Amino acid sequence: AAPLAIVRGTGHAADRGIIMRTGEAFQTFRLVRRVVLDKTGTLTQGRPTVRAVEAADGDTAGLLALAAAAEHHSEHPLARAVVTAAEDAGVTVGQAHEFESMTGSGVRATVDGQHVLVGRPGLLTDTGVDLTGMSDWITAQEATGHTVIVVAADQALRGALALGDQLRPDAAEAVAAMRQAGMDPVLVTGDNHRAARHVADQLGITEIHAGVRPEGKAAIVRELQADGTRVAMVGDGINDAPALMQADVGLAAGGGTDIAVESADIVLLREDVHAVLDAREISTRAYGRTR
Ligand code: ADP
Ligand code: MG
Repeated sequence: AAPLAIVRGTGHAADRGIIMRTGEAFQTFRLVRRVVLDKTGTLTQGRPTVRAVEAADGDTAGLLALAAAAEHHSEHPLARAVVTAAEDAGVTVGQAHEFESMTGSGVRATVDGQHVLVGRPGLLTDTGVDLTGMSDWITAQEATGHTVIVVAADQALRGALALGDQLRPDAAEAVAAMRQAGMDPVLVTGDNHRAARHVADQLGITEIHAGVRPEGKAAIVRELQADGTRVAMVGDGINDAPALMQADVGLAAGGGTDIAVESADIVLLREDVHAVLDAREISTRAYGRTR
């Protein structure tokens, strides 16, 4: 049976927007020495907007229409942003068929009889799309912290979109507090390394893993655990679920997807990063009282 202190701790946590789902959340958090932080939607607000559009043939409306059609069925925040940008620009978006989502990479669909691929630059080069015509633009956008997604139709490069997201206002303070609490932060992201570096620099994080696929995030947690170190993982997406399961303490960040929530020991209902430290404090205090 759950000791009374844990029952009480669970109540206090809920008052502060923190749901404790497992006993590990209480027992292990005080021992955690590394904390793996997902970038998008965890350290950033996860509400990206389209900041720049570059069409290979100069037809930005056509490019937006194509991208929005393919992204229409995707739940990904980047996809939502593309659809919104198309709406704001007043372009007519066609119907997509045979939609398929590739977690951590992008989407594919058939639009107007064309095979459309939208996703991270590496996804397109892997399938043989030549990006050289746009590589300078991509590099320049990524250097400013933007996420670039590229659009191809029938294997031909049609253009690219650059998206930006805001840091959570308390991210830098919370990361500093994690360090002070003896938890060394590590940033992991499926996003490009330039955007990752841009965020990490603002937060004073030196260990970065960018361009990481969902299985890769779990592998990074496992590597950090190899010498017995207890590791917490904080993430919000489908792509974070394997790493949340692998971590000693998994935390689903504010507004996380259902699958992240189900994979986590602790669910943060609040959108601030400091909730991670509050969860640790509550766990530690409740655990102390059970002994
Ligand atoms: P993160 O780890 O930053 O939360 P993801 O693993 O979800 O990011 O995605 C990694 C990269 O894959 C994104 O930066 C983007 O380039 C690409 N990507 C993922 N989903 C989509 C999508 N629906 N449309 C376009 N690109 C996508
Ligand atoms: Mg995320």
